[in-house]
Amino acid sequence: MKILVFDTENIHTDALEMLKKDGYEVEMSGEMDLLKEGKLPEADVILIRIYNRVDKAVLDKAGRLKAIVSCSVGLDHIEKDECTKRNIEIFNAPGSNSNAVAEHTVALILGVLRRVVEATKHVKSGKWDRKRFMAYELEGKTMGFIGFGMIGKLVAQKLKGFGIHHVLVYDPYLNRRQIKMAGGEKMDDLHDLIKHSEIISLHLPLTEETKNLIGEGEIALMGPETILVNTSRGGIVDENALIKALKNGRIYGAGLDVFEQEPPSRLRFMRVKNVVLTPHIGTMTNKAFRDMSVQATENFLKGFKKK
Ligand code: NAD
Repeated sequence: MKILVFDTENIHTDALEMLKKDGYEVEMSGEMDLLKEGKLPEADVILIRIYNRVDKAVLDKAGRLKAIVSCSVGLDHIEKDECTKRNIEIFNAPGSNSNAVAEHTVALILGVLRRVVEATKHVKSGKWDRKRFMAYELEGKTMGFIGFGMIGKLVAQKLKGFGIHHVLVYDPYLNRRQIKMAGGEKMDDLHDLIKHSEIISLHLPLTEETKNLIGEGEIALMGPETILVNTSRGGIVDENALIKALKNGRIYGAGLDVFEQEPPSRLRFMRVKNVVLTPHIGTMTNKAFRDMSVQATENFLKGFKKK
């Protein structure tokens, strides 16, 4: 059985070794665009990452294909219905990067609270005005989660260790019991959650329903000590409204790993105070990088029947 590997730089070698050990013939492709790979028609299995799109045109060309191993959590890059029609199995690595994103969320929360980036710039410029950095503490704060799936729950778990006072959750797809079991209290109304939370963290997908879910009206409900953190998807927060609120000091600060447009333009956040920005690096840890490849491969080796 021949496995063709794409985006080879981003697939961990441990996964490739596992496949070889199991008797698969592993071949590396130098292409990112699957349609450009001349060997695609010979592949029984393809190993890919999220930047390798698998659509109808690709599947039409991959006549022998029996399985796709996607070293990712999401599967938005694969046309699943087309695969089902052709009996092509899909294997991925759900949850493999959740911890990395949860830790990054905590880093952003603390970074904004203690104004770590601003303080670094301050010291680097030779200043030493400690009073300027009088801050709030995490202990005793009320957290508001919008979206409480794998990552949201992990963040809540980690923040318990910091003495978070209360965990409020707005997630219309989870019931009261599910939220309670993970230590949260269900809020039926998004606006109520916003009004009662001091730190608001977003952990939901970007869909038609969630686009600009946090707009000018929602930001207006936040208090001057509120922190907003988004490690989910750009587009869920109306970025213009957020920038305006930060510039006017309407809210305390924000931490963003994701943006409406990635990368955002160089000038966009230029004069925005107390914002911590990272270039969509929630999953960028050595462990998550390895786990995505290895777990997807393990799932494939367990679930795929060699035909
Ligand atoms: P998940 O599917 O486990 O959880 C998502 C939760 O959002 C679910 O509980 C769902 O019920 C809830 N939800 C859906 N629509 C909602 C709505 N309208 N209002 C409130 N809640 C709603 O997903 P996850 O693994 O926890 O990921 C959460 C987010 O993090 C996703 O957007 C994902 O794309 C993003 N993510 C970002 C990075 C990064 O690098 N920053 C990495 C991985 C995932």
